[in-house]
Amino acid sequence: MAGTGRASGGVEAAPASQQGMRRQNLAVVMGAVAAHGPLSRADVAGQTGLTRPAVSSLVDELIARRALTEAETAPSGRVGRPGRALALNDRGPAGLGLEIGVAHLAACVVDLRGAPRVWRRVEQANAGRPAGQVLAEAAALGAEAESEAAVLGLWVAGRVMAVPGVVPDGPGGLVANAPNLGWQTVRPADHWPDPDAVPEPENEANLGALAEQRQQGRPAETFVHVSAEAGIGAALVLGGRLFRGARGFAGELGHLPVHPEGPPCPCGARGCLEQYAGEAAVLREAGLAGAGDPVALLTRRARAGDAATLRALDRAGRALGLALASAVNLIDPDALVLGGAYAELADWLLPPVRAELAARVTVRPWPPEAVRPSALGRRGPVLGAAWSTVHRIISDPAQLPAF
Ligand SMILES: [Zn+2]
Repeated sequence: MAGTGRASGGVEAAPASQQGMRRQNLAVVMGAVAAHGPLSRADVAGQTGLTRPAVSSLVDELIARRALTEAETAPSGRVGRPGRALALNDRGPAGLGLEIGVAHLAACVVDLRGAPRVWRRVEQANAGRPAGQVLAEAAALGAEAESEAAVLGLWVAGRVMAVPGVVPDGPGGLVANAPNLGWQTVRPADHWPDPDAVPEPENEANLGALAEQRQQGRPAETFVHVSAEAGIGAALVLGGRLFRGARGFAGELGHLPVHPEGPPCPCGARGCLEQYAGEAAVLREAGLAGAGDPVALLTRRARAGDAATLRALDRAGRALGLALASAVNLIDPDALVLGGAYAELADWLLPPVRAELAARVTVRPWPPEAVRPSALGRRGPVLGAAWSTVHRIISDPAQLPAF
């Protein structure tokens, strides 16, 4: 479909653009197999509008770059030779996702089909420790995950790292500010032991939203993805595209005021959402100390019917609903997604969130199911990090080396 225009002269065929056109057509074939595979070569021609000889040449190159495999298939009830089916290679290029959390490190490798093949998660306190030390540990965890992936026949073609901080647009991979880690102006490349394996940092809320988008298979949805670890992160996906703001600072939902005279926030303002629905605030309100996994602790207490915990979660849900009502009135999204720790606490957060939205979103229809928990929960950011490399390869397979 998308290939028709490109193949039949949609691109000006000046000699200099021949290479660019082939590059685009490689992506068209790759995209067709990713969306509809397994496909025969003839199916690919039918799907893309490219000629059979063109498809064959492009497919051969994609196989040489280990992006596609072509397997013998049994004839499906028809008389004749067995067919050959093209599929994304699940023993070839892969994406490594890393995550630096306030209280954990994680790594994950996904193959080109998007399947997670290697998982690593280590609970450890990272807040306030030297960034170089934390990054060296993340690098070691990533190297371990890459070795395990190699045993499965995978090789890592790209690395992205989720961080709970602001990652402004621009080259060089800078984490401008990650207040809950205590980082200011940290460049992972300055600390990474292997200069050839430096990951690209990205805000964890943004990656969680991209993971959600892929999981749902609704590429054009407009939604707000809100998640919490130590802080509250939100990502805006408008018409399927991540909206980063003028300088990459969009989505600071945690500092939306929910009570103008409320308690002071480390950001300098008062009554921010984080003071009601942030992890520390919920634990404080529930009378719990933050030892161990705070989300597991809250879940356990809430299931047991502990009144203070239920009250704290209700207060958090109301504050969250209040902030999200402003987001809905401002941008008119299809959906609101509770991700990260909020997804795991959704049983208790959703009712007050929905009640606030019902009371405050009145200028447009707002069905209660338009706010939903993410199925990925706290795995979202690291999966999003790994999937972003896979997405990049499928969009431009020519970036892969030929073997
Ligand atoms: Zn604040």
